[in-house]
Amino acid sequence: MRALPQTSIFVGEDTQHAHPFNIPLRHSQPYSFPVISVKMAQLAAAAAARVVRPLKDSFSRVHTYLRLSLTERCSLRCVYCMPADGVDLTPRSELLTAPEMGRIASLFASRGVDKIRLTGGEPLVRADAVQIAQRIGAVSGIDSLGITTNGLVLARKLPALLDAGVRHFNVSLDTLVPAKFELITRRPGHARVWRL
Ligand code: SF4
Repeated sequence: MRALPQTSIFVGEDTQHAHPFNIPLRHSQPYSFPVISVKMAQLAAAAAARVVRPLKDSFSRVHTYLRLSLTERCSLRCVYCMPADGVDLTPRSELLTAPEMGRIASLFASRGVDKIRLTGGEPLVRADAVQIAQRIGAVSGIDSLGITTNGLVLARKLPALLDAGVRHFNVSLDTLVPAKFELITRRPGHARVWRL
């Protein structure tokens, strides 16, 4: 999870966390490209057939996948992502609220987006992260709701997130070695992620 401008919106393939430590992803790429291409073409065709005005970019590619960044804040300080003393934060008054996030999801769903992933920063540092998931999970047309998290508080929030309709969890853990975890993230917390 890179620190991103607050309430950023991304449409398209999920390149988040494609950092140098993601060895399984790198290894799987040569074998998964054809499958991914076929699946994306199928999804785009389905979206075009279902929606009057599907969401297209300037190359006429139809997009059905949206990532919503809930915050630029994070409880870790990974060396490849954040400065040790964090980043400048957007004033709270400028952040989209949970109802506004639900509205955004609804508008994108009306243009054919059926898959949403919540990201950050660390999305679960937002006190209303579960309410946001509930709002988006209730939007008609959103078939897939996921979250990318550093896992520090996921155990506590997991039941509520499941109730809200979150079904895809991407937990970022760069190492199985606690000492390396602290070197990479500049914070303790390996045991809290690992107990998942
Ligand atoms: S856990 Fe936090 S600091 Fe580490 S990569 Fe993700 S957003 Fe950046």
